[in-house]
Amino acid sequence: MADVFSKEKRSDIMSRIRRKNTKPELAVRSLLHRLGFRFTVNGAKNRSLPGKPDIVLLKYRTVIFVHGCFWHRHEDCKFSYTPKTRVAFWTRKFESNVVRDKAANRALRDLGWKVITVWECQINREPEKLALQLEHLLRGQ
Ligand SMILES: [Zn+2]
Repeated sequence: MADVFSKEKRSDIMSRIRRKNTKPELAVRSLLHRLGFRFTVNGAKNRSLPGKPDIVLLKYRTVIFVHGCFWHRHEDCKFSYTPKTRVAFWTRKFESNVVRDKAANRALRDLGWKVITVWECQINREPEKLALQLEHLLRGQ
């Protein structure tokens, strides 16, 4: 079947999917950058560590997950609602995401990594507060 996109357009789309550079993730990266932290987003550790962390700060033996509130079930967050239809489907889906996140966190901690979870709503609502929190968590200040 013929592709509805031109070759260039298709390769642009595919590379965008591969890069996985979601907007919240980019926001956290630029924040860290501004704070002077060095990190990797597509290094060997990002690929091989449990849960494939979005951001790895090798020097601080710390990983950061940038989680969407909806998919990863941010507790007590308004974006973490359950759709009104296909409730069983969504509940199962959410539960498996939460279980997977928890298992990854535990495995990482067992390996001696510090795990930081950044929620999408924090980035949008309180970027400055988030910057302070990250600074504190990473540098212990
Ligand atoms: Zn949230």
